[in-house]
Amino acid sequence: MTAELITRSTYPPVNISDDISIPQFFTRYNPDNVKKSKVVHVDLIKEKELTYGGLRESAGRASWGLKKRVGLRAGDVVCVLVQNSSDFVILAHAIWWTGAIISPVNPLLTVKDILHCFTLVQPTHIAVSGAYHAKVQEALKQYRNDNRTKLFSVLDRIKGILKFPEDIQGCSSQESVPPYDLEGQSSKKVVASILFSSGTTGPMKGVKVLHYNHIINLMQGRASVPLRQNADQRVIFFAPYCHIYGLGIVVLNNMWLGNFTCALPNFDLEIYCQQFSRYKATLAYLVPPIVLMLVASDIPKRYDFSALECMIIGAAPLKKALQERIKTVFPQTKITQGYGLSECSPSVMMQHEADEEYVGTCGRLFSTTEARLVDPVSGKDVGIGQEGELWVRGPQTMMGYMGDEAATRNTFAGEWLRTGDVMICDENENFWVTDRLKEMIKYKGLQIAPSELEDQLVQHPSVIDAAVCAIYSPSQASEVPLAYVSLAAPYHSWSKEKIDKILEEVRAWIDSRVAGYKKLRGGVFHLQTLPKNPSGKILRRELPARKKGGRVGV
Ligand code: AMP
Repeated sequence: MTAELITRSTYPPVNISDDISIPQFFTRYNPDNVKKSKVVHVDLIKEKELTYGGLRESAGRASWGLKKRVGLRAGDVVCVLVQNSSDFVILAHAIWWTGAIISPVNPLLTVKDILHCFTLVQPTHIAVSGAYHAKVQEALKQYRNDNRTKLFSVLDRIKGILKFPEDIQGCSSQESVPPYDLEGQSSKKVVASILFSSGTTGPMKGVKVLHYNHIINLMQGRASVPLRQNADQRVIFFAPYCHIYGLGIVVLNNMWLGNFTCALPNFDLEIYCQQFSRYKATLAYLVPPIVLMLVASDIPKRYDFSALECMIIGAAPLKKALQERIKTVFPQTKITQGYGLSECSPSVMMQHEADEEYVGTCGRLFSTTEARLVDPVSGKDVGIGQEGELWVRGPQTMMGYMGDEAATRNTFAGEWLRTGDVMICDENENFWVTDRLKEMIKYKGLQIAPSELEDQLVQHPSVIDAAVCAIYSPSQASEVPLAYVSLAAPYHSWSKEKIDKILEEVRAWIDSRVAGYKKLRGGVFHLQTLPKNPSGKILRRELPARKKGGRVGV
């Protein structure tokens, strides 16, 4: 038994009784006494405004409709394939209000990936925007044929299926049901959301996030970064609500606090900057590739960013040089970094504004959070200034992966969640990400599982084996996936030109079969013998690009 070297948060601890659900928490606690009439959400699809009181009322009425008209019950799973919009926000809260589980699926995924998500979470209901209806229908055909999954549409009317909220929401405030009360269960046992993450290895898994996890993570944020956790913030947001970054920060945090959020359905730099000027945004949640755009493009220069007080950058590593560069372009703005993961609902640490000189750090532990850094080889805890895998213990750690006990077991060591990220910690308890042990690739904040690309690659007739890893692309401020393939014989009698042509074909073939963000932007290379351990597991860190480029993205 080795000694545990535990770092504990220095922020005031938070707690909440476990007999409260997300909708009860939202209806009971209005931390800054925000007025009901305050606009908290605007979407750019309909230019529709949602007020603080309107969200609660709509969620209650929609929950009545979801129960009576769509047959939704507590514990049911609703997969949601909908762009960022006020309707997404209302729908999410209405689902929690009924006691059902939201499972937001990235609509940009391919039919095959969507089918994988359905198979993992077994939805009873699917909410879909018109643009993705055909994809969902295709996935459903392969999923099962008994038509038990009920479909309803959001944003557009689709022939033959009910539209949310118009056809579903009750029309009077009497047609409302009380917020879900957990029916005597503990909020530490009831799942609220299932998100998708590849975890440390293998394909996408369903991360089960509890009512308790979500609620406590809101409270941890409020106790840890109080300056930015009040109803005075105006935010322009572009990250997808289907990712924990969007679900946690906007759909939950900003709606709870009563912050103003204007949501973009997709990222467009010009529109983003226009909205910044229009709403005099004070706070920006960013990912490193967008930070790069803000410093490298002339577009932001034409717009007014004078109200911007703080940027919080996360979801992927922010290089120190980029953090320094953004400071020179926005000298009046505080630049901070946050770190989290779907498995921690998501927030684990955040750089304090007062610590701005610690450029490149992810900051200190959120309230009520403990951490250890463990050497992956020796299994021993490491001290200040030494690298180790981050293990987290706190009330925000997930319940486990849906239907995957082996993956859950491998991710937890007792109560400690092994993040798969390598960090160091200094004497002031600031943490830095230095590398990643887990296989996941992060392209512009979105996850790519190497094993999924490898599975596709070996289906190409010229490929007999494949290994995918991440390399860092400075021009995109992001990791990109790169593949090595072993070609089927008789490659050794081929000219270099012929091999290059085949590799190019393989790349184009894969790029046409995967979601746009998963394309092999790092290229495809030939390597006849892939590095593997004796049991056949690919040693990704031994691949030439990893050995040459060293660490990933940091
Ligand atoms: P996701 O579950 O999609 O949010 O991905 C979580 C992963 O993103 C983490 O385990 C890290 O590998 C990476 N990540 C998140 N925030 C940061 C950050 N500030 N610096 C470096 N990597 C990060």
